[in-house]
Amino acid sequence: MSILVINAGSSSIKYTLFDSATLRVIDHALIEELRDHHHGFELMQVQFQQHGIDITQINAIGHRVVHGGDKFHEPILIDDSVLYEITALIPLAPLHNPANIEGIIAARTIAPNVPNFAIFDTAFHQTIPPHAYRYPLPQNWYETYHVRRYGFHGTSHHYVSIQASRILEKPLDELNLITFHIGNGVSACAIEKGKSIDTSMGMTPLEGLMMGTRCGNIDPSIIAYMVHQSGMSVEEIDTMLNKKSGLFAIAGTNDLRSIIEAKTNGDHHAALALDMFSYRLRKHLGEYMAVLRGVDAIVFTGGIGEHSPLIHEMVCNGLEHFGIEIDSDKNRKGEVQIHTEQSSVALLVIPTDEERQIALYVQNKLKNM
Ligand code: AMP
Repeated sequence: MSILVINAGSSSIKYTLFDSATLRVIDHALIEELRDHHHGFELMQVQFQQHGIDITQINAIGHRVVHGGDKFHEPILIDDSVLYEITALIPLAPLHNPANIEGIIAARTIAPNVPNFAIFDTAFHQTIPPHAYRYPLPQNWYETYHVRRYGFHGTSHHYVSIQASRILEKPLDELNLITFHIGNGVSACAIEKGKSIDTSMGMTPLEGLMMGTRCGNIDPSIIAYMVHQSGMSVEEIDTMLNKKSGLFAIAGTNDLRSIIEAKTNGDHHAALALDMFSYRLRKHLGEYMAVLRGVDAIVFTGGIGEHSPLIHEMVCNGLEHFGIEIDSDKNRKGEVQIHTEQSSVALLVIPTDEERQIALYVQNKLKNM
């Protein structure tokens, strides 16, 4: 039997098929340029046939859903009322939830007898307390419009925290961790005894750290200022902040490998982009050291977090006063544990695997059904 994990985007479906007992990957593909998601599922079925996979063996489907608002704090079996709730959350995630919903509807149509589960990027952060998730904004913005911090990348932060507990051979509920998911999207999470107590992304994935094309934290008055000064509409500015800012705005590309190469060749813009990027990560590290009042490990994950020793160094160098000591040899060699023996905080590089974590959630749900 197998578990199918679906990540439905606006014009693509990424799927991974796992053996439901061992979680071995049976098949994995990205299907692109779809007419719609029903078409995507038909193409997936063709692919399964070509790969000799029996679709009657699929016993559950796990769907990644970006926004679960404050309604969903764990993976949930999808029925009509859950689907209705996810649809009602579209205003909070207009770019993502509609595609996730289409993927769910297509799966339910094509395989009506297979249970579908929704796994939300926001769910792991539902343990964040009100003093961290509320914005200092008018009460009715929260009550009427649900303006609060939700956080994202939750599946990734949860997955690497479980792996960190394995590596450190200590139960997760005895560990304080700072996890950095650094890819094209970037977020940090403060994890106290296994639970998220703060994260850098907010009501949307725009808040927080500098990212590939997103600005992260800026003075909110810049938006009104630019509306008045430039004549751009609010929508145009929102697009600039999401798609034309971050590393891309400063270095001319959001590909960190090209930025590092350009810096080596003397490009000042690339050097500034790297300084800004790592400075903001280090500032956040300091914030979460104070939030957690004691940290066992800092975890790096995501395309950059897993593969860039330079960023690990730029973030961690000079933090010996905080008990953080990076071992440059181990770091350069690409080891998992990159701290010195004297370091009181462990520094870990752990590849994320959101699909596997979704399969794990589904496996657990099936056990309890
Ligand atoms: P992700 O969104 O997690 O796929 O991460 C994408 C980012 O990871 C891009 O900025 C890539 O340039 C960066 N990246 C991938 N591999 C490497 C590498 N070997 N060294 C530095 N950055 C990398």
